[in-house]
Amino acid sequence: MTCDGLVAVVTGGGSGIGRACADALLAAGARVVVLDLDPSGAPSGPAVRAVRADVADRASLAAGIAAAVNAFGRLDILVNNAGISAVGAVEDNDDAQWARVLDVNVAGVARTSAVALPHLRRSPAAAIVNVSSIAATAGLPRRALYSASKGAVHALTLAMAADLIGDGVRVNCVAPGTVDTPWVTRLLAGADDPAAERRLLAARQPTGRLVSAAEVAAAVVYLASPAAGAVTGTSLAVDGGMAGLRLPARPS
Ligand code: NAD
Repeated sequence: MTCDGLVAVVTGGGSGIGRACADALLAAGARVVVLDLDPSGAPSGPAVRAVRADVADRASLAAGIAAAVNAFGRLDILVNNAGISAVGAVEDNDDAQWARVLDVNVAGVARTSAVALPHLRRSPAAAIVNVSSIAATAGLPRRALYSASKGAVHALTLAMAADLIGDGVRVNCVAPGTVDTPWVTRLLAGADDPAAERRLLAARQPTGRLVSAAEVAAAVVYLASPAAGAVTGTSLAVDGGMAGLRLPARPS
């Protein structure tokens, strides 16, 4: 799988899954521009640019995408990874939280894609990969707002794939299970017993362990690369079997 000669933008590439995507795209031969509220955690080197940008702010995205094209002359791949968490059942988040999470997680994907598309349409190998979640298709407890946002990312992926197929832009998403990133560490820090909570999250996945960020990134690079030239409008689960498997309960 190679992305030799291609240029990728990764939102949220300063941490976790986004950082792993930036690393994997670099290893596959791409040049990478990280757009992040805090780009200090982006990889460094001659094939990387890290730009402060907010996916909730169109002007900062326009500046970030322009920086990518100015630095490397083209844009072929967009990874819409930046996202924020929300915890609670349907009554637990106020209007401001609903507006904020949908603005970042859903409108952020649309906004970044809209700014990038004039450049992507000029690429002979254009691809957008959105980061959805198992929460898009499975009912998880106390994740009402977050799940709504990721279900919307899934639906948006399909609609974008239909609209953009004539322009030669493929659009897919990945649907990770629980991934071992700083995000999950932050979530667990709020639990009474973080280690016990981590064991429960691991046990929820049939593989018995959390997914690694590198495993999600490998799926993203596949979908972004010309190797997936016939793949558009799909959601690729990277969830340790969580979405599809029904295993007999193991005696404890
Ligand atoms: P993370 O918190 O480790 O990293 C998120 C990055 O996004 C950070 O660098 C942060 O600064 C950046 N960011 C946040 N808001 C931004 C904004 N408005 N504009 C630009 N950058 C912004 O999180 P992660 O676990 O790597 O999650 C990345 C994506 O993967 C998210 O969309 C998340 O919903 C999704 N996801 C995560 C998991 C998981 O278990 N960790 C599972 C499924 C899906």
